[in-house]
Amino acid sequence: MTQSFHPPVRTLMGPGPSDVNPRILEALSRPTIGHLDPAFVGLMDEIKALLQFAFQTRNALTLPVSAPGSAGMETCFVNLVSAGDKVVVAQNGVFGGRMKENVERCGGVAVMVQDDWGHAVDPQKVDDALKANPEAKVLAFVHAETSTGARSDAAELCRLAQQHDCLSIVDTVTGLGGIEVDVDGWGADAVYSGTQKCLSCVPGLSPVTFSERAAAAISAREHRAQSWFMDLDLVMAYWGEGAQRAYHHTAPINALYGLHEALVILEEEGLQNAWARHRLNHEALAAGLESLNIEFVVDAAHRLPQLNCVRFPAGVDDAAVRRQLLQDFQLEIGAGLGPLAGKVWRIGLMGYASNQKNVLLCLGALESVLAQQGVPVDAGEAVAAAQATYASHA
Ligand SMILES: *Cc1c(COP(=O)(O)O)cnc(C)c1O
Repeated sequence: MTQSFHPPVRTLMGPGPSDVNPRILEALSRPTIGHLDPAFVGLMDEIKALLQFAFQTRNALTLPVSAPGSAGMETCFVNLVSAGDKVVVAQNGVFGGRMKENVERCGGVAVMVQDDWGHAVDPQKVDDALKANPEAKVLAFVHAETSTGARSDAAELCRLAQQHDCLSIVDTVTGLGGIEVDVDGWGADAVYSGTQKCLSCVPGLSPVTFSERAAAAISAREHRAQSWFMDLDLVMAYWGEGAQRAYHHTAPINALYGLHEALVILEEEGLQNAWARHRLNHEALAAGLESLNIEFVVDAAHRLPQLNCVRFPAGVDDAAVRRQLLQDFQLEIGAGLGPLAGKVWRIGLMGYASNQKNVLLCLGALESVLAQQGVPVDAGEAVAAAQATYASHA
């Protein structure tokens, strides 16, 4: 007989999923009710208000798409890009490349603005591209590039979009809950995120929010969106304000209990406190890594505190280290992607996983495993460097 599945208990310090807060796991196990049950409709209203809080927006069109971050991305593109539309896409890592894919699958034309992996998007290049393509309808960019750990200036990029009369599409899957996301302050138009990064919830939902300008552009479309499932006109009959809550698809009831709990936890902590916690744990980790002569890919001014992308010491067997961290320490860190594959590790400090215990565990584990790989390591040095950072902030 096949047995029930019992996963090993890991510490997740990769690019996501991140450790799920036990309060959220408990919320997921509460009894399932109908997706049109009045009690559930009340929960939906609370989730919407909590998402508005997390995104810092008053946008009425704010909801969790019933599928992972990639579906939030696709929801933004299929609703805002029509055949023949020109879209300026800034790429500085993996996810900008996916934006290009989305534009082209919608029949649009992507004008690419490239920056090196590990660099922030250069607003000057974006401005030049928008000037050279005055007919462009949309500017799309990634706020928090998980493949490299670079943070781009979302406020400035959204301002450029407005100045050139474009809508902005912003990927902040890894940003939300970890660094400032200020949808209304930025004047962003279509913003999507994910649940399994800094919200520390299970994967499988994608919070999205649309400005009034974006909502107006969606209602003014001449053709129906190419996706039935992600067509916001249809989705809003279920999620919309004063909507009849007409059946569109069966909401992932229990996953939404989890998201509600994740957002309640964020509200209890407060946005500023959550960002400060991510910052401090990043600084402690960075102090420890630097004591091991491990260098960051991204310069200090543009680093994401929740995603630490670092070059590992020369001669180290990348896969062997990660395997041993998993076997001996139950610790998962991420490998490099694309041009950075085989060159870097991506150490996540996201949401619930961003804490002192994990920072010290990771540094102690790296000291041990690197020493076994023949790297000269002074045992205890990295842990001490991190502890000194905490002490100086106490
Ligand atoms: C993780 C991630 C996505 C995709 O989210 P999934 O939930 O894996 O579909 C998109 N963009 C960025 C920047 C991400 O980090």
